[in-house]
Amino acid sequence: MSDTTSPGTLVLIVEDDVVSRIAVQDYLEEAGFRTACAEDGDGGLAAFQALRPDLVLLDVSMPGRNGFDVCRDIRAHPGGQHVPIVMMTGHDDLESVDRAYDSGATDFVAKPMNFGLLIHRLRYVLRAKQMADQLRRSEASLAQAQRIARLGSWDLEIESGRFQCTDELQRLFFADDGGAAAPDRPSALDEVLAQVCEEDRPGVIARYHEALAAGEDYDIDFRLRAGDGATVHVHQETEFQHGDDGRPLLAFGTFQDVTEARLSEARIRELAFFDPVTGLPNRVFFMERLSEVLAMARRNQRCMALMFVDLDQFKRVNDSWGHHAGDELLRQVSQRLSESLRRCDLLMHNSGADERPLARLGGDEFVVLLSEIRRADDAAIVARRLLQELKRPFDIGATEVYVSGSIGISTYPDDGLDEETLLRHADIAMYRVKEEGRNGFRFFEADMNSRAIARLNMETSLWRALERDEFRLHYQPKIDATTGAVTGAEALVRWYHPDIGLISPGEFIPVAEETGLVAPLGTWVIQQACRQAAAWQQACRRSIKISVNLSAAQFAQDGLIDTIEAAVRTAGITPGQLQVELTESMLMEDVERHIRALDALRALGIEVAIDDFGTGYSSLAYLRRLPIDCVKIDRDFVREITRDRRDAAIVRGAIALAHSLDLTVVAEGVEDAGQLDMLCRFGCDEIQGYHFSPALQPDEFIAWWEDYEARLALDRRASA
Ligand code: C2E
Ligand code: MG
Ligand code: MG
Repeated sequence: MSDTTSPGTLVLIVEDDVVSRIAVQDYLEEAGFRTACAEDGDGGLAAFQALRPDLVLLDVSMPGRNGFDVCRDIRAHPGGQHVPIVMMTGHDDLESVDRAYDSGATDFVAKPMNFGLLIHRLRYVLRAKQMADQLRRSEASLAQAQRIARLGSWDLEIESGRFQCTDELQRLFFADDGGAAAPDRPSALDEVLAQVCEEDRPGVIARYHEALAAGEDYDIDFRLRAGDGATVHVHQETEFQHGDDGRPLLAFGTFQDVTEARLSEARIRELAFFDPVTGLPNRVFFMERLSEVLAMARRNQRCMALMFVDLDQFKRVNDSWGHHAGDELLRQVSQRLSESLRRCDLLMHNSGADERPLARLGGDEFVVLLSEIRRADDAAIVARRLLQELKRPFDIGATEVYVSGSIGISTYPDDGLDEETLLRHADIAMYRVKEEGRNGFRFFEADMNSRAIARLNMETSLWRALERDEFRLHYQPKIDATTGAVTGAEALVRWYHPDIGLISPGEFIPVAEETGLVAPLGTWVIQQACRQAAAWQQACRRSIKISVNLSAAQFAQDGLIDTIEAAVRTAGITPGQLQVELTESMLMEDVERHIRALDALRALGIEVAIDDFGTGYSSLAYLRRLPIDCVKIDRDFVREITRDRRDAAIVRGAIALAHSLDLTVVAEGVEDAGQLDMLCRFGCDEIQGYHFSPALQPDEFIAWWEDYEARLALDRRASA
């Protein structure tokens, strides 16, 4: 605190008696004050306005305006509210003292004056003023801090229920215009409680009484209907003050408006637990839910099932139409699956139905939690329904998209007792469905495990496989639909793993693509196929066209044309004996570049076929621009052709379209005579599939071929 009589301190003396005035003035100046004087009330007021003194020493009785009036006037004057005013009263004049305080005086001194005491009195008054100023400042900054923190304090007399609060709290929570006016300030606990949201009120009351009984400080969050009608989230901190006998007298604390924090917490939760694309629970949420459900199943000794649902053609949609279309498809799929699950609940009378049985784990992977099933069959019913749901086309923008799903199921307790095992086993079962041609469901079986482990180790052993010569080509014949003659064979690679045995390309080609092995492997396949064609020609005098599959990574590779040309030349076959198969989706990506590569291949005399044709058929417009010779209709369409009229129509349309573009049509995956018959009627040119033969090892292939030709000749003779 600075010296109250620092040279700056100005005292205004208002005194009509000239002797007293001069005496006081002398004395004060001697004590280090600066002084100014006025000899009556009006002069005093004018001097106050002009000089803004630090203290006013004011005589009570003056002619004209007396001291009381002047005091009141100064107080009413801007800047006069807090200035110390010391009044000079007559000795023993108690009435004047009272009036002095009433009119706003800070203190008084009695005349005749003891000057020594006067100085002390004035210094004391000045110091008190400084402290009061400081207190006012800190109160102002506290109020400001409260305003910023959207916080206000309150206290409550426990016995009477009388409630008091700061202006800030009043403004925040109770003012009906949400602002400055100060109307219904609650004055009792009941009034505050009346504004607490109904759902939260019992909790707020219970918590208060509980803490009161225990005499413990506490905090609680609740929602309150603010004066302006808005719902605010309030954080309340509470402490108790106790009397000497230990009884609580006063509760006091703060209310803070935490609405914004709560809303952003909710948003963060949303982001942390839900998938932004579909709005479904994400992996984190799902894992929590799964452990709850498992714990419950354990306790109640019940069964539950876990389903992995993977979309079969999702990558193709993403690749052909972009990520927006992919996202839209995921949204529609999730809606359909959710609805279907709701209907299944009704069907199964599943009383403990989980409101969120479906989650998206990422990519095109969904997972379904059947928290209460009676037996495994229930899960099969659900799986069948979900697959059925997926079959209907999806409208993505202007395009109709067809997808199917592969579902793997694991059940508790049969297939695993913990989350991790159940998830892994459902995943393994799903993979098995994919291997078996997709679009179906499978329950987990114990022997699936060993294959899955092998798949994990595949990456490392795959590299060695090429060095150790573990790959083999099998050949599947293609038959002329009109004459029945063998026209060619598709070379399909196999991996003879020393421990696992035969592994199909569906399992290791994706891994080979990821690891870059597909390029050297592809080169080997091309060379081997050319050698085989040459060998058959020499040994059996049979000329045959062999087709090889090229993967996207391989097709993008530099020097592919040179590799092919060299392989053909080295083997000594004609380029027309080699055909390459490329998938449709693979070509859609960088059409212009691919067209150049295809032109180069055909310039060599090598035929190009589009594999798995029909699954991305909305891009037929592109197809017209591609320099190709042949399309192979995907076995997904062939499979249902005799049962599903839509599939039949698609195949018939595709054949007609291909013919209009002068392309040969091969149907793959033909498994029975019904399919064969239908395809022949549609005008399909060549047939490939188990109906004639699976892919065979080279010597088996020759044996099969001879046998087939013999049977063919017999048939011809019989029908002739
Ligand atoms: P893809 O080119 O569409 O080959 C046809 C697949 O259908 C072969 O499976 C074949 O065994 C199978 N298949 C043939 N007839 C039938 C039938 O009547 N019913 C059923 N359900 N399936 C039949 P595979 O050999 O497992 O090959 C799978 C895929 O692996 C091939 O599909 C091809 O995309 C890829 N692939 C095979 N060999 C190679 C290769 O040397 N290089 C590359 N890059 N990919 C290859
Ligand atoms: Mg193929
Ligand atoms: Mg194919």
